[in-house]
Amino acid sequence: MWYKEYGKTDKRISAVSFGAMRFDNPDDIDASAQVVLHAHRRGINYFDTAPGYCKDKSEDIVGAAVRQMKPDTFYLSTKCMAASGVDLRKSLERSLIRLGVAKIDFFHIWCLVRPEQWQERLDGGAVEAAMRAKEEGLIDHLVVSSHLPGAALRKVLETGVFEGVTLGYCALNAAYRQEAVNSAGAMGMGVVTMNPLGGGVIPQNAKRFECLQGPGDPSVVAGAIRFNVSQKAVTSALVGFTTKKHVDDACDAVDNFMPYDSARLESIRKNLGAAVEHLCTGCGYCMPCPAGVPIPQMMDAYNMRLLQGTDPKNVTNRLKWHWTISPSTARACTLCGACEQRCTQSLPIRDRLKEIGSLGD
Ligand code: SF4
Ligand code: SF4
Repeated sequence: MWYKEYGKTDKRISAVSFGAMRFDNPDDIDASAQVVLHAHRRGINYFDTAPGYCKDKSEDIVGAAVRQMKPDTFYLSTKCMAASGVDLRKSLERSLIRLGVAKIDFFHIWCLVRPEQWQERLDGGAVEAAMRAKEEGLIDHLVVSSHLPGAALRKVLETGVFEGVTLGYCALNAAYRQEAVNSAGAMGMGVVTMNPLGGGVIPQNAKRFECLQGPGDPSVVAGAIRFNVSQKAVTSALVGFTTKKHVDDACDAVDNFMPYDSARLESIRKNLGAAVEHLCTGCGYCMPCPAGVPIPQMMDAYNMRLLQGTDPKNVTNRLKWHWTISPSTARACTLCGACEQRCTQSLPIRDRLKEIGSLGD
């Protein structure tokens, strides 16, 4: 396994880390814990969980696994998205019990999707409560998980509250997220990338993303992980695992691997332009919308229709679970067309919004 320094902390974490959000049968705690233990045997030492994942069983599963690991051979990451300091404290204390540890190595202020959510976490006391818990030794490193665009994320990181960031970065959104990744790295932050496989979109559309697979790469999946972790700023790619085979594939991708050089990274980035044709890259150039429509989020959800099929659930689930907004938000569009003039992908935004707006909430 390849280990990289997590920012300015004294910790070295595996270049592939364990996302505990995709267990097949979370009700079977022991069987699911076996997948976690297998990853640990393969050298993975960073395990990321959260309240609510996998029918709210993920922390119990990870807890069951780490109770069987030697102390000091793993790092745990969990999260809280509450704005209230009281709620964050309760959630942290419950996580400690479920995980069976005295402190959380990496505790996330979770899921900053919209800029105003940062202010809500400050005003509600969540950030202060987390900092207090850190002083008490219940948290080792305070970090943030975010889907904010580059400039908004930089503002949060510049507060100096955090030592690292977990953010979405993959071939689908690389052009747009690169700035956030690079600026977090330049600030000395640990950077863990969520969804390096585009939430399954890349393996499910391997042909479209074949530019990720170079001559020395065994598969598009391996290429996607290698593209991620070859970036100097990226500490670890967080992959959601279901089976031991998934773990093996990801570990094989980084074992004995020489990071891509800058020429290879540049060539991939160039070729990704064709791979993401007709897709929203999340660049944000279409904003602001005078009617307040969150266009990049809406178009990201529409990507799922193009990549995963016409079942409306592909769009509505993405809006609901990833962006926490409903399809009816699209109906605020007045069809002025300003966004289409600015769209870097020349997308028919108005038509797509009409279609999204017609889906039930
Ligand atoms: S066309 Fe609709 S979404 Fe685009 S800027 Fe105008 S109101 Fe906003
Ligand atoms: S709709 Fe176009 S401009 Fe807006 S985020 Fe997507 S690709 Fe960028």
